[in-house]
Amino acid sequence: MAANVLDKFLRYVVIDTQSVEDSSTYPSTARQWDLLQLLERELREIGLPEVRIDEYGYVFATIPSTTPKTDVPVIGFIAHVDTSPEMSGADVRPIVHRNYQGQDLVLPDDPQMVLRLSDNPWLAEQIGHDIVTASGATLLGADNKAGVAEIVAAAEYLMAHPEIPHGTIRIAFTPDEEVGAGTKFFDVQRFGATYAYTMDGETRGELETESFSADAITITFRGFNTHPGYAKGKMVNAIKVAADFISRLPDGELSPETTDGYQGYVHPYVLHASVDSTAVKLLVRDFSSAGLKEKEAWLEDLAGKTVQDWPGASFDASIEESYRNMKEILDAHPRAADYAREAIRRSGLTVRERPIRGGTDGCRLSFMGLPTPNIFAGEHNFHSRLEWVSVQDMEKVVDVIVNLVRLWEEKT
Ligand SMILES: [Zn+2]
Repeated sequence: MAANVLDKFLRYVVIDTQSVEDSSTYPSTARQWDLLQLLERELREIGLPEVRIDEYGYVFATIPSTTPKTDVPVIGFIAHVDTSPEMSGADVRPIVHRNYQGQDLVLPDDPQMVLRLSDNPWLAEQIGHDIVTASGATLLGADNKAGVAEIVAAAEYLMAHPEIPHGTIRIAFTPDEEVGAGTKFFDVQRFGATYAYTMDGETRGELETESFSADAITITFRGFNTHPGYAKGKMVNAIKVAADFISRLPDGELSPETTDGYQGYVHPYVLHASVDSTAVKLLVRDFSSAGLKEKEAWLEDLAGKTVQDWPGASFDASIEESYRNMKEILDAHPRAADYAREAIRRSGLTVRERPIRGGTDGCRLSFMGLPTPNIFAGEHNFHSRLEWVSVQDMEKVVDVIVNLVRLWEEKT
């Protein structure tokens, strides 16, 4: 099982699967098919039934039940094949640093790229382990090919060990997670799992069951444009109104730069400016839907107060829902997280839990009717040229998956 997960991982990371924003196709890039089709083939070779790749690129497969019990819930495991649009994923050269002893790892293709223990405290737990990095020129793609390799390795192990009792298991590999579209065409019905886990977390032992609730709000200020030479008493400059609005956002609180833990924020991040009309796009984040709505109402109120000081100006606001805190769903299905905790402990690790200051595909899936917490895959420094993963962590994840499916059988 050990050599196995690394071999798979090294095979997957050299395949460029970068996704891109604002694509007119799905998946957003044709290159993602290369890995999706390879996975389809590998799952068939392992002997899994019901391997299918659909027109959108989703690969689904089944590990058949080995238990006489008929009421064990169907459990799913999900990972995404694409890598971040922010960093090249072409010509990845993975390097395995055997028996890591805490030294600086200098990446040969760019000696400026040095993975240091002092900047990466989690490396302290990896002494004696084998660390995989890229070569300094690209990301590694452990996000989320570590998760892909772990799921395939677990599938292979379970197929070779039919004496391990478990219910029916479903597997899914998805495209375009990094551009927020991983679940766009995900057919929850056809997938057919009752609970699922994304294997896309960071540190060993980590379990994530809470995420942000997230919206984007666009506030458009309308002014009045006319020839600036003859504008006296007529022109209303929407750019200045928008600037006034932005300056009223609180300094030193409620922003990404000043919050952590369970604090939410509002974050202006895109501006489309002209004298006639200026749109400010803001991300709104909170851990509860009620808190999210409060922040949005407060922003609209602030925009209203701003235009009152600019005679002739007006505004409108539109809200786009992004995702919701998975906790709102998972709280009603406590077994999904409880068994994950127990499986992590049975694998000899301490459970680590913290709220995700972001979203996962599991957030959307949970609200689409498939409760889906996130379990660690061992990825670190994702989207970065200093991305790394430990081989022993990947092996642990395979253990966790096996223990988790046993638990579901045992407790049913
Ligand atoms: Zn990911």
